[in-house]
Amino acid sequence: MNCIRCASRRILTANAHCKDLGYFEINGASHDGYVPDDLGIGGGDGVDILLCLDCGQLQGVWPLPQSKLERKATKRDTPPAPSQFAQSIVDHVISTNDGNVGAVIALMMEGWLTSTGDEIVQRVAECIQALTVDPRTNAMGMQLIEVLQAWEHWCKLEPLISEDGDEDEESY
Ligand SMILES: [Zn+2]
Repeated sequence: MNCIRCASRRILTANAHCKDLGYFEINGASHDGYVPDDLGIGGGDGVDILLCLDCGQLQGVWPLPQSKLERKATKRDTPPAPSQFAQSIVDHVISTNDGNVGAVIALMMEGWLTSTGDEIVQRVAECIQALTVDPRTNAMGMQLIEVLQAWEHWCKLEPLISEDGDEDEESY
């Protein structure tokens, strides 16, 4: 194979079997254990890289989308301040305090017809985060998470609202 940058044929294949003994860090977020599979360096039990010995380019498809580890770093750096919209949902739940999950979903989905799928998922994720962070509305947030598991966009929503913590140690 030829280097994706300089077309050199001096491509080293390195496979480092490290089992669960890896250490990875980016922007202050670190991970001990298995190799994250979204960093372009292998995954699971091993670091697998193809390195050009002429120009140093790691072979792969770059740039990569934001990795889980980076999301963890971003979350830690900037605890999400709720958007105005998310705050209005929180205020609504606090003022009504009737546990009406359906009404909250209707509010969150307002304007759904003019939003693309991703926008509405983003918006719902923001609201749920804002609700679960506030102890007064945490119960509603948790209920919404349960109900929305049946939503067609749940697979997109879940990564946005799941806490990166001990959980992702296992999923690597
Ligand atoms: Zn090269």
